[in-house]
Amino acid sequence: MKVSVIGASGRVGKAAAFCLAEENVVNKLVLISRKDSIEKIEGESLDMYDAMAAKDIRISIKSSCNMEDLHDSDVVVITAGVPRRAGMSRSEIAIPNAKIVAEYSRIVAEHSPHSIILVVTNPVDVMTYVALKASGFDRNKVFGLGNHLDSLRLRNMLAKHFNIHVSEIHTRVIGEHGDHMVPLVSSTSIGGILLKNYALDGTIDMEGMVKKVINAGSYVINKKGSTEYGPAYAIANIVNTILNDEKKILTVSAYLDGEIEDIKDVCLGVPVKLGINGIERIIPIKMNENETKAFKNAANIVKMNTERVMDSLEI
Ligand code: NAP
Repeated sequence: MKVSVIGASGRVGKAAAFCLAEENVVNKLVLISRKDSIEKIEGESLDMYDAMAAKDIRISIKSSCNMEDLHDSDVVVITAGVPRRAGMSRSEIAIPNAKIVAEYSRIVAEHSPHSIILVVTNPVDVMTYVALKASGFDRNKVFGLGNHLDSLRLRNMLAKHFNIHVSEIHTRVIGEHGDHMVPLVSSTSIGGILLKNYALDGTIDMEGMVKKVINAGSYVINKKGSTEYGPAYAIANIVNTILNDEKKILTVSAYLDGEIEDIKDVCLGVPVKLGINGIERIIPIKMNENETKAFKNAANIVKMNTERVMDSLEI
């Protein structure tokens, strides 16, 4: 299977490429960069080869600024874009990043028309919409990383709070990858027991934990300048699920056409069944009253931001 990473000299791009190189299912990896970064990604690929030799992994890693090398990719991960700096919101970088994502999506459609596009560039829900429209691909083939990472963060916090193995925590964050994310507390379970039945001692400050998840990315950025390992492993989770046709239910930013709360024509984080053809099904979910209200609010905000960005692009 062949995976290409665009924006590979960036912190998320190179970390994702490294995680993907370790995955058995990936035997061809292409690191795509602008011309100015070619030396850097060549260095990255040589360094990765050394690491793969230590792990007994045989893989082909190509560094390139020639878009023809995208040819026949199974998955293309777009991480190119201006990142958020400390104190910046994801929507401040929307218009410059939309131009970059639109251009690369058109290039992917030209050189690798049967691939799946995984968008990582922020604000990811808006960028997923841009990539979908610019590529002209079917909506099952274009989706974004965002709430899967937020869900992993919430999972971690709950595991720490209860001092329980992280695999026992089943939870999900949907909506926007941003301030308007919606943690599905009503359906969160621990070892198969609903949180409301489990947390009977009342020690859990769910509201505080949700605030921490919303600010988790900014918290890391303020300390070390960017997030890397979290997004990289979350990307690898999604790509693996696709390439191994695993049919797992993961939360990705997907184009909605009325499947949940009748929301249409916007990309939002929702649970989907993922397999070799990308999104096989958007899972229709029932939420409590507060969650439904918050989800609809997220949809309105992302839609408004998407319209503003699309107006600037002339697609
Ligand atoms: P970074 O280190 O600055 O890397 C971004 C890369 O984008 C650059 O190395 C460059 O790659 C490319 N790039 C920059 N300006 C460009 C331009 N004008 N035209 C074309 N390509 C350009 O940033 P990062 O920390 O890796 O973050 C990358 C993106 O992922 C950001 O938008 C960030 O907000 C987002 N992100 C999303 C999530 C999520 O969960 N969805 C999580 C973390 C980060 P080349 O030089 O190799 O071309």
